Amino acid sequence: MDIPIKLPAKVKIGGHLYDVVFRPYLWLEENRQGSHNARTRRIEIDPAFKSNLAANIIHEELHAINNVYLNDRLTEDDVTALAEGIYQVLIDLGIRIIVGGFDGDEDIQGSLQEQEG
Ligand SMILES: [Zn+2]
Repeated sequence: MDIPIKLPAKVKIGGHLYDVVFRPYLWLEENRQGSHNARTRRIEIDPAFKSNLAANIIHEELHAINNVYLNDRLTEDDVTALAEGIYQVLIDLGIRIIVGGFDGDEDIQGSLQEQEG
């Protein structure tokens, strides 16, 4: 049985509130599917990678956890491996992260904002 979870537009990591936003063309502009910025407390995800959205969000949230709790001790390879492992465990448990707003012409940013309530 799938247990869908809607992704919030904000996540709390430690005492910090991160904005989670879609950023179209992130891949084209910076050659990244997602990004984490500890200074602005902002996670950006390129919505073009539809089948990777949940895994990419977990990956960037792990970067935030790494920054807030671990003083950035984990390497990029560590974060990648842990994110894939967590994603696989969630899938095996039947937990599906629903990332709204990437079908058709729907406004992706507006859709994420709607999930806040
Ligand atoms: Zn990374």
